[in-house]
Formats: sequence, C-alpha cells, structure tokens
Amino acid sequence: MFDINDYDDIRTCCTGDQICPKCWKFMALACKILDNGLRIDFGYNHILWVFSGRRGIHCWVCDQRARILSPSERQTVGKYFQIINGGKYTYKKVKLDNRTQYLISSALDMIRPIFVPFIVKEQDILGTNERLAKFLNVIYDAEDREALRSQMETLETSSQRWNTFVCYIENLLDKTKKEHHKYTYLIDEIMLQYTYPRMDIKVTETMNHLLKGPFCVHPKTGKISVPFSISTVDEFSTDNVPTIEILTEEMTKIDLEEGESVENINAERKNYKTSLDPALTVFREFISNLEYDK
Ligand SMILES: [Zn+2]
Repeated sequence: MFDINDYDDIRTCCTGDQICPKCWKFMALACKILDNGLRIDFGYNHILWVFSGRRGIHCWVCDQRARILSPSERQTVGKYFQIINGGKYTYKKVKLDNRTQYLISSALDMIRPIFVPFIVKEQDILGTNERLAKFLNVIYDAEDREALRSQMETLETSSQRWNTFVCYIENLLDKTKKEHHKYTYLIDEIMLQYTYPRMDIKVTETMNHLLKGPFCVHPKTGKISVPFSISTVDEFSTDNVPTIEILTEEMTKIDLEEGESVENINAERKNYKTSLDPALTVFREFISNLEYDK
C-alpha cells in the first residue's frame, strides 16, 4: 500500500491529499515497479491493484503461497522492496552497492528514460534556488556541494542544472578511476530517491491491519475503491472514478429510460451498464484466474 502524500518531499505539483495527473505518474510508476518485482522475483501471478478512492493504492497478492506466509516471511518480502530509508532529516535515502539486485536494475530501466521529462522538467525539482539547495543536501562533501551550487545557480532551468550536475559527477568519476568511488552510484541513487515507491510497510508485515476492500465507498470522497489493470495504469484517471451518487444516478436513469417508476425498481434482476464496468471487468477476470488456479 502507498499514499500520494508520502511523496510530499519529492513532488512539487500538489501536497497532502491532493492528487493530479502529474503526481499520478508517481503512483503509476510505483505500481509498475512493484508488479514487476512481485511477478519476476517472487513468481506471484494473482495481483490485484486497487485505487482506494482518495489518495492511496492497495496491492492484493492472492496467490496461495502468498496468503499463507507467516508474519516474519511477510516482513522479509516487505523489506525486499524497501530501498528508501530514513525520515525527514535523512537527506540521502537510497544507498546502493555493487550487489545490485534485479529489482533495482529493472526499476532503473523504467526510471532512466522518464527521469528528465518527468522529474527534472515536469516536477521541476531544480527550478528554484530553494529546491536546488534541498536537492544538493544529498551531497555530504561540503566542498563538492558548494562547487555544484555555485555552478548550478547561474543556470536558469531545471534541465540545464541537472545536466551540469551529471557532468560534474561523471567528470569526478572519470578523473579518479577508482573502482568504488563515493559517487559511483550517486546518479542512480538520486533517480531512485525521486521516484521509487514509498510504501507503508506495516500493512504488508502484519496480518491484522485494516485494509479497505475493493468496491467500498471512500467515506471522505464518496468514490468507489476500484480495481484497475496494471496494463492501463498510465491512463487511469482518479477523476473518472465514480462516486456512489454518480452510480445511483446512472442506475436510476437506466430504470427510468426503461419505463420503471423509481419505487418499483428491482436492482437484483438487472445487469446495469455503469461507469463501474471497467473495474468490474478487471475484478471478474482476477477472480476467475484465481479460481482456475486452485
Ligand atoms: Zn499533483
């Protein structure tokens, strides 16, 4: 499970409970990275992705092997995916070494092509001197940090500043030619720090954590908690998720069009076509695959 407000230290478009198409990209990327890891590294097949109705996404892993994991095994799975560490006062939250696992290298394969358009340009992470100062906190060496700051501050755009940063680090690595320089993994670590899923690990670890079921109505927004397909996660729009009011209206409209009076509606015998249909299709497919695999 992850919530969009857990991205407040890296997103610049919204804060708190707000969510827009720009920050949905963080969520979509998180789904893709975790889905890939669960399928490839753990061999799970029955994975259901559900939008909570407000700001979160839940992932249900329903393979039998997953359902019978003990709390400590669940903890191990959770920890495997946890690469962002440290709270508000830890500036550098990702530390890689030469034992790069598949999860990280495949996550980087997804992140590298979109990092500049998504994070550097759209989120504009280096667009102001304040953001630049925050970004440069990942450099612990005061001399390098100052040198970078004075070079980058003279440039106007986030992209120009990012290019200068990358050149500076690559130059240093070229000069030293040491096998494990302190900056060997820095660019990758920064890319991960600014995009990698921020999960609520406690939900994964414990067996008794409350989790909203699919198709519940979110009490704050009235939106339905809807399953969605990982293959269309980029196109998913939280604005198109129906609320309970919208569904009631859609169903009443169908009844009235068919000439029924509002008092005489027998909902059970009908196959209503509503804006919930895409979610129902995803859910039915998930359930039938699960049943088939018993
Ligand atoms: Zn946003």
